[in-house]
Amino acid sequence: MAVPRILIVGGGYVGMYTALRLQRRLRRGEAHVMVADFGSYMTYQPFLPEAAAGNIEPRHVVVPLRRILRSCEILSGTVESISLADRTARFQPHEGPAVTIGYDYVVVAPGSVSRLLPIPGLTDHGIGFKTVEEAIHLRNHVLGKLDLAASTPDERVRRRALTFVFVGGGYAGVEALGELEDMAADACRYFEGISRGDMRWILVEATDRILPEVGEDMARWTVQELRGRGIEVRTRTLLTSAENGHIVLDDGQEFDAETLVWTAGVKPNPVVAAGDLPLDEKGRVKATAYLRIKGTDFAFTAGDAAAVPDLTRPGLLCPPNAQHAVRQGRRLADNVLATIRGHTCTPYRHRDVGSVASLGLYQGVAQIYGRQMRGFPAWFMHRTYHLMRMPTFNKKSRILMDWTLGLLFPREIVSLGALQRPHQEFKVAGRS
Ligand SMILES: Cc1cc2nc3c(=O)[nH]c(=O)nc-3n(C[C@H](O)[C@H](O)[C@H](O)COP(=O)(O)OP(=O)(O)OC[C@H]3O[C@@H](n4cnc5c(N)ncnc54)[C@H](O)[C@@H]3O)c2cc1C
Repeated sequence: MAVPRILIVGGGYVGMYTALRLQRRLRRGEAHVMVADFGSYMTYQPFLPEAAAGNIEPRHVVVPLRRILRSCEILSGTVESISLADRTARFQPHEGPAVTIGYDYVVVAPGSVSRLLPIPGLTDHGIGFKTVEEAIHLRNHVLGKLDLAASTPDERVRRRALTFVFVGGGYAGVEALGELEDMAADACRYFEGISRGDMRWILVEATDRILPEVGEDMARWTVQELRGRGIEVRTRTLLTSAENGHIVLDDGQEFDAETLVWTAGVKPNPVVAAGDLPLDEKGRVKATAYLRIKGTDFAFTAGDAAAVPDLTRPGLLCPPNAQHAVRQGRRLADNVLATIRGHTCTPYRHRDVGSVASLGLYQGVAQIYGRQMRGFPAWFMHRTYHLMRMPTFNKKSRILMDWTLGLLFPREIVSLGALQRPHQEFKVAGRS
């Protein structure tokens, strides 16, 4: 009998934890597991703000799938479409022709992408904050702007370089802004003529509050804390244009900014719409509490791209966060195994324990099991919790080393922006 083939689309939280569990629990020859991902690494997203701030080396927040999934086949490239009807997926490697992959079981876990709005100039001048590449870019970019501001005699160029706008007040936006502002404020002392007060950091949020993940008290405290650092927090405000880097807000404010970070929400990865997967009104894959795709017994889904019923809050769906994604991945793997072995599947159930967010070195905010924390205890909780959760002993140790070295030595302040143009010097040499 042919060995069943399990295709996992996406090697992020859900994909990696599902594959890891299957790898540990499958008997020899029981199934062949394939993991298809753009990058062949899993990104531990909650550490992206710290990677952007230079507290953690960016390579330490990604987990190489090929190293930890030794019994799985890793496919680097893009899944373009998934067909349930004929149990195939269209896969495009980074180069060469696309191939059709047949499977017996499929796990759809491609996560989410930034939810953009049709705002003039947004795609040209904005950047998201979901990938390690974006975190590396932003660190280099912010330090590059300090370099520029310290080197130009032109007040307009300097003002524009020192203005940083973040749109979206969820934890991704608040943490990214908090950590980057903290890093830039620390770096200022090395840039002649620039002090913390010369920079303008602005958080724009459409609703009347930031951080919906923590209670209202903690959100209010966070606003005070950010404002105390000179950061402008503008709630009930919309970005209406970013054409040519000229920011226009609907409260009448207009100014130039060379940095625009868009963290105003996510939507399911569009690959789920390319094929015949059943989707809900928000484009998420319809799932049952068993993490099966509705109407199937061989297709599974979880994470940011899936609409999974939250059994602890009847009528509601699980929120798109890592807390659920990790646990769903493990439950999903057990249910795939149960299906292969003809056993009964178990529904997914997890009560949200809360959230932690860091706002820069020694500052944080948290709400865990209904208990609110702020300042140093919350920041410490953030680091401890995520260090424990970080996959592999290797990565945990490296991150711990980064933090320890950070206590002993100042942060690096060099902008390696030229990384994005590695051929430039060679080309210039060729022209001379
Ligand atoms: C900055 C930031 C901070 C966060 N902090 C927290 C936090 O503190 N706590 C918390 O609970 N959650 C946090 N989250 C949310 C959490 O990271 C996500 O909910 C979680 O990653 C979702 O897991 P997933 O497996 O669904 O998707 P991902 O982990 O995003 O994995 C999806 C994978 O699929 C791959 N992929 C996508 N499309 C394709 C395709 N077509 N072909 C091949 N591969 C594809 C991607 O490369 C990716 O590796 C944070 C998110 C961000 C961006």
